[in-house]
Amino acid sequence: MRRNIVAGNWKMNLGFEQADDLVNLIAEKLDEVETETIVIVCPPYPYLELTSDLASESNFYAGAQNVASFDNGAYTGEVSAQMLASMNIEYCIVGHSERRKYFNESNQDIATKVNLLLKNGIRPIFCCGEVLEERDADKHFDIVKNQVIESLFSLTGEEILDVVIAYEPVWAIGTGKTATGAQAQEMHAYIRSLLTEKYGKEVSDEISILYGGSCNPKNAKELFANKDVDGGLIGGAALNADDFLAIIASF
Ligand code: PEP
Repeated sequence: MRRNIVAGNWKMNLGFEQADDLVNLIAEKLDEVETETIVIVCPPYPYLELTSDLASESNFYAGAQNVASFDNGAYTGEVSAQMLASMNIEYCIVGHSERRKYFNESNQDIATKVNLLLKNGIRPIFCCGEVLEERDADKHFDIVKNQVIESLFSLTGEEILDVVIAYEPVWAIGTGKTATGAQAQEMHAYIRSLLTEKYGKEVSDEISILYGGSCNPKNAKELFANKDVDGGLIGGAALNADDFLAIIASF
């Protein structure tokens, strides 16, 4: 179901004590506010259990940042969707631009991960977005269309309802350069139109599309005010409990 969502992606940051402090602070502060927004905290794997234990007593969810593209077995260093499901993890980021760039993940690899997650009852937070050269060459719509089609469009209308999409222009990630509300709305509406074409309006209206890329307490309101922007995937600003909470309060 389409809901407002704010998900924090901690990436590969924080030692155990800092992670413990941060997630406890988020849980405490969240307990003091009334919000309809779904809040998800995605820490590095070693802190997932800690996060998930706290989440189960508070009003947020724990999410993973990645998942293996194989079932359980001899894949040293990997973590399977079955393992995440066995820990009651409900969300997992897939296709983040950093995974595409540093780990050469293709749209097909991401499709495999999306399928494994759904098979195990975990909601994928599927990331898509263009690099600066692609936007400058006016190819951003085609790039995002390809990513969405190749990674998601083998899903059924029922399966896609469990996917959260995050539009993250790569030029805005960690750069302090945010898309304008108009740029975000334009791409989100385009993604929704692709979903409508493939699955019909009833389905596309139910899918949450988040914006990601240097979203912070100062610009969140302008971004979230747009009709097809259903929240944010937050990197840097999710490492500070006050900033994260301020973003959650920006609807
Ligand atoms: C991200 O990594 O998903 C992200 C949006 O990062 P930042 O908010 O730091 O740009």
